[in-house]
Amino acid sequence: MHDLVIREATLYDGSGAPPVCADVAIDGDRIARVGAVPGGARATLDGRGLALAPGFIDVHTHDDFAALVYPDMAFKLAGGVTTCVVGNCGFGAAPHAAAAVMARTLHPKIALPEWQGYAGYLRRLEAQPPGVNIGLLVGHGTARLAAMGTERRAPTGAEMAAMKAIVAEGLEAGALGLSSGLVYDPGRFAAAEELVELCALMRGSGALYATHMRDEGAALLDSVREAIDIGRRAGVPVQISHHKASGRTAWGRVKESLKLIEAAQAEGLSVHADQYPYTAGSTILSAVYRDGRLRGVVGDLTGEDVVIASTESHPEWEGRSLTQIGTRMGCSAEQAAQRVLAADHGVTCLLHAMSEEDVRTVMHHPSTMIGSDGIPTLEGKPHPRLYGTFARVLGRYARDERLFAMEEAVHRMTGFAAAKFGLRERGLVRPGAFADLVLFDPVRIIDRGTFEDPKRLPEGIRAVFVNGALAVEDGTPTGVRTGRVLRRSRG
Ligand SMILES: [Zn+2]
Repeated sequence: MHDLVIREATLYDGSGAPPVCADVAIDGDRIARVGAVPGGARATLDGRGLALAPGFIDVHTHDDFAALVYPDMAFKLAGGVTTCVVGNCGFGAAPHAAAAVMARTLHPKIALPEWQGYAGYLRRLEAQPPGVNIGLLVGHGTARLAAMGTERRAPTGAEMAAMKAIVAEGLEAGALGLSSGLVYDPGRFAAAEELVELCALMRGSGALYATHMRDEGAALLDSVREAIDIGRRAGVPVQISHHKASGRTAWGRVKESLKLIEAAQAEGLSVHADQYPYTAGSTILSAVYRDGRLRGVVGDLTGEDVVIASTESHPEWEGRSLTQIGTRMGCSAEQAAQRVLAADHGVTCLLHAMSEEDVRTVMHHPSTMIGSDGIPTLEGKPHPRLYGTFARVLGRYARDERLFAMEEAVHRMTGFAAAKFGLRERGLVRPGAFADLVLFDPVRIIDRGTFEDPKRLPEGIRAVFVNGALAVEDGTPTGVRTGRVLRRSRG
């Protein structure tokens, strides 16, 4: 007798295949059977009229510390996410002192737990499991900060050796790859050679290089070429993070950047991208306002385009654009940015910097999987992508706008992601696979958060299972925490 049978749901198995009506039986933490399941079960769920899919894999998160300080991870589970890949954009979880610099920006009011190295971080997660599974990337920026501070030069031999030791420790602990954030301090001071040398440590292991590229504005194409070149020279797969063209003058260039990805694939390289389904981005203001200007690597922006998301010291600025703040202060938007940063260097912001057409072009392309890039600062007004990314792709883009078929949308957030990131026995509904599952209403599923009111949970998620345990029931997280650490298997 099976522990649970979900009966007669419309099954999107994560492979991209058209849906079929099927029963799915779960025993313990695994899927036992798919198809017609005769006989009784200890529990049954009526799946009629509902869609059943593998749990969504959020390949682009900054939940390294959130997984420990908000361990129920309700903000992810409520949107159907069962696995988060942490450590993106060069921000890793170790060494701890360097990692804590970023973590204090994301979680200014929370005492941060401590650990030794990536192995210590993963052990800590295993001792206090979060609600979702966690796979991790080693952060290049964090390694560089620990090895050589914010020096604006190439590393010395000793500094390079120190960085390599940090990356090697993370890979040995089971990291899925190495990430870079080449717009941020200190990642932006690294030349391609440095990244090639570090990525070469992963050659042959299947671990990948994920990159927040040097410039997503006017120099988008050069940045994509650099990312592909690093992968080619190091002999590792490449993941372009949050693929976009940022700032009006760059709009439309995603057509060419996608061609560069196609050319790399034709050459036999493993190059893909992820995307969040919004025309606004979100980052730290210090990366947007530099040298007295609101432009550069995030594209040309006006004071209207930049809206404060979270600031510990001046909540009255949250939800206001730099132009609005400047008007109140009696100064320009640039001067307002300078004053805001002087008051709170860790302030995060929204950037209304993309075109809807580009978002659709990138999403439609077969190289694109889904990653929220959610900033898990639950105070303030975080970008609604933290909550709504997956429901929005399914409800708005697949169902309402018919940008692609529902099975294709599900594939981009499950089986495709698992294959690229080396998450074995995840991402597909198959006998023997882990029972990470989402049961949703395909007619009702939709994101509900807005920029004004971002924390509204998506609608239409009926049940979520993480390793066979019921983590969301009728749209509400149960508080059950059965997430596991997903290590890259060796060889
Ligand atoms: Zn990024």
